Amino acid sequence: MGMIYLDNNASTPLDPRVRSLVVWHLENTFGNASSSDHAYGDEARRTIDRARNEIAQLAGAKRSQVVFTSGATEAINLVLQGYVARSKHRPVRVGVMPLEHKAVIETVDALVHRELVSVRPLEITPDGQLNIDDLESALRSGLDLVICMHANNEIGVVYPLSEVLDLCGKYGSRLVCDASQSLGKVPFSFEHEAFFFAAFSAHKMYGPKGVGALVLKDPDSIEPLLFGGGQERKLRPGTENVPIIAGFGEACRILHSEMLTDSESVKEKRDWLINELSSIIPEMRVNGGLDRRLSGNLNVSFRGTPSSAIIARIRDRIAVSRGSACSSGVESPSHVLRAIKVPDEYIDGTLRIGIGKFNTWEEIREAAQIISEAVLSVRKLVT
Ligand code: PLP
Repeated sequence: MGMIYLDNNASTPLDPRVRSLVVWHLENTFGNASSSDHAYGDEARRTIDRARNEIAQLAGAKRSQVVFTSGATEAINLVLQGYVARSKHRPVRVGVMPLEHKAVIETVDALVHRELVSVRPLEITPDGQLNIDDLESALRSGLDLVICMHANNEIGVVYPLSEVLDLCGKYGSRLVCDASQSLGKVPFSFEHEAFFFAAFSAHKMYGPKGVGALVLKDPDSIEPLLFGGGQERKLRPGTENVPIIAGFGEACRILHSEMLTDSESVKEKRDWLINELSSIIPEMRVNGGLDRRLSGNLNVSFRGTPSSAIIARIRDRIAVSRGSACSSGVESPSHVLRAIKVPDEYIDGTLRIGIGKFNTWEEIREAAQIISEAVLSVRKLVT
């Protein structure tokens, strides 16, 4: 398309090594992994097992704890709905940050609506960080589950999981963690005993769309949403999509060895872009703290400068997002920006820029020029 793609928090391009492997398996590994009576089935099963191993290694989990799904949305629904269905307590007491992804917020809301769950909102700081003191007082008052994402999809803030896990352990609660933005970008380990569940998504980490996973400590603590052939430890029945599962595994294998160097080079570009934009454009703010943040994420607001007008000027040359890609069809301001109280005069002028490992310096320099020219020209019109 000849455009600069800077929306890597919405989705990432396929790593060419992943693509080659997926194509190879599409052509060759067409057996059903449940067909144990011939070599085609055996090969499909071995391919899934290899992928499961790669995901487990990257996530610091056991191979037996990994369950494949269609993505993070399904994984989150399966665990939250499945846990509530099996729980003997009513309502299940859940602590949730207001800036979780809609896959969490909407699932929890649906369960609240059915009077199966009660929610204790967890406070956040203006930087978008979790207020740890408030978490402790919420835990002291009694929570069955704490839901805390590892990294935020809009403002990139990374949450201190080991502190959260220690607190959960201390008060006998368990952590549910949406780690779809962080796996393969920030080190992650499922080992802590207070970890209950984590969700991952391949298309956020240079893998294919339509595949993700959950890792789960105790499969007996959740009820399946679907019933059928018993695949994936009876938690997610249905014939496995072997090629894309293999692609997910390959994406994990690659990032296991490359994520730290990728992250350093992406961060250098992100930090340069912040300096460049802020030196050209007055009245710009960065949303979300910069010290604990995904290296490629930049969420910026330009005072009094509608982002719809900025996007209209740049959309044929550069792909960025006005807010969360998952909700960009909806006109209301992002719930995340509202939650961190971005001032009214800034909130409509927000862009989310997601730099990925395939972006070049040349693209970043060009993007800085395109964005700053567009912002300044919209400003002239509205002031
Ligand atoms: N959670 C977060 C933090 C996300 O960014 C996304 C994707 O936008 C999801 C969940 C949903 O993931 P999937 O597209 O795999 O269902």
